[in-house]
Amino acid sequence: MLLNRSERKFPRVVIIGGGFGGIEVARHLRDKEVEVLLIDRNNFHVFQPLLYQVATGTLASDSIAFPLRKMFKSQDNFRFRMAEVLRIEQESKIVYTSVGDFDYDYLVVASGATSNFFGNANVEKYSLGMKSVQEAQNIRSYVLQNLEEAVLRKNAHDRERFLNFVVVGGGPTGVELSGAIAEIQLHMLKKDYPELSKHEMNVYLVEGLGEVLAALSDKSSRDAKRYLEELGVKVILNTVVKDYDGLTVTLSNGDQIPTKTVIWGAGVKGQFPEGINQELIQRGNRIKTNGQCEIEGMENVYAIGDVAATVTEKTPNGLPGVAPVAQQQGKYVANHILGKMKNDNNVEDFKYFDKGSMATVGRNRAVVDMGKFHMNGFLAWCTWMFVHLLSIAGFRNKLVTFVNWSVKFFTKNSGIRLIVHRYDRQLPSVKPTEEVEQV
Ligand SMILES: Cc1cc2nc3c(=O)[nH]c(=O)nc-3n(C[C@H](O)[C@H](O)[C@H](O)COP(=O)(O)OP(=O)(O)OC[C@H]3O[C@@H](n4cnc5c(N)ncnc54)[C@H](O)[C@@H]3O)c2cc1C
Repeated sequence: MLLNRSERKFPRVVIIGGGFGGIEVARHLRDKEVEVLLIDRNNFHVFQPLLYQVATGTLASDSIAFPLRKMFKSQDNFRFRMAEVLRIEQESKIVYTSVGDFDYDYLVVASGATSNFFGNANVEKYSLGMKSVQEAQNIRSYVLQNLEEAVLRKNAHDRERFLNFVVVGGGPTGVELSGAIAEIQLHMLKKDYPELSKHEMNVYLVEGLGEVLAALSDKSSRDAKRYLEELGVKVILNTVVKDYDGLTVTLSNGDQIPTKTVIWGAGVKGQFPEGINQELIQRGNRIKTNGQCEIEGMENVYAIGDVAATVTEKTPNGLPGVAPVAQQQGKYVANHILGKMKNDNNVEDFKYFDKGSMATVGRNRAVVDMGKFHMNGFLAWCTWMFVHLLSIAGFRNKLVTFVNWSVKFFTKNSGIRLIVHRYDRQLPSVKPTEEVEQV
């Protein structure tokens, strides 16, 4: 049972979100004189950088997710509630959730981000996001369902829509995902679907800017594009998606691609419960904080990670939405809270230490930027693999992931091809004149 404020021995730190930022706060409050209450709508932490491997069948979802209660099983001051946080009430210092309300002495909003469709209702309705394990599993089922549907169509024209896959957004998510779908085309299609030809399948990557991986160095952008094209991905630059009706995607250059699969990786926006002053909401729906990650006008309330825009003179647009920012801010805020409890207000602003960026393209190539140092090809891929293996939570997950990657490296095949839950969507039906095989 959780005690009321008046009954508690130590102050309570409530953390909204068990993502990269939230778990770091909880970890750094271990053995301290606080009660930690972590609330998440899921009972697990997700290693989002590998979601694309769940979506393309290389990894099972439980290899990249880890139960939060298990993660903190030996931390005595830790409590968890699986709940949706609905509202924050700063006057009474209470968070209202789907399972009841909890008071706090310190609150950390680490609720992350969700897909941003930039107000395009059609695209939001018909395309697939990849921000959660559930969404990644839906993509996996849906891609396989489309291949099954394609097999039933007798002529190539009718198969086209099921065999065109459009990924939107040339950031790391789009690059990694389109590369992995291209590998399905190259290595799995012929073996599993002898009725289909790999020449019938097309993978498109649509990017609004003039390069992919624009946040990385020019060299990495060029290398990544080249690797994608070598895998057969059709990279379309300086172009945005204008509309999508579930059957045909229309691009800003006027081109139309018949497709039942558009996967959206073109933008994210912060997500958070009600109760935040609207004036503090910045571009990308992020909550403005000061340099010490505190939300202005809210006593003892912090925002970190993807949901936060940490605005300082040096970072007028906030920090990038990447895991190391959330992790470093999590550690910083834990220490900030402990400092506040000791009335130590002489604290320096948060400083982000950028260790570098990387992205993988296909089974054995990647690009890595570390300061001015650039790496590409197989060596970069080994580095990428090593860093990701180290970062995945749990020994079992590391082992299973390593085994899966090794098998894939040697066999060129993704292991998980089950459509356990059909992903059925409300799409306009394909023309009834189409000839479908009858058995
Ligand atoms: C496909 C993909 C690939 C990525 N690749 C990389 C990469 O290669 N490298 C990198 O550095 N970064 C990558 N990122 C970004 C990185 O994952 C994020 O920057 C990081 O997860 C942010 O951490 P966070 O703690 O702010 O939020 P998250 O990790 O998103 O965690 C937020 C948590 O809050 C919970 N939550 C949200 N709202 C509520 C609510 N109202 N009530 C209860 N719970 C709630 C969610 O369930 C979630 O568990 C990737 C992201 C995606 C989606």
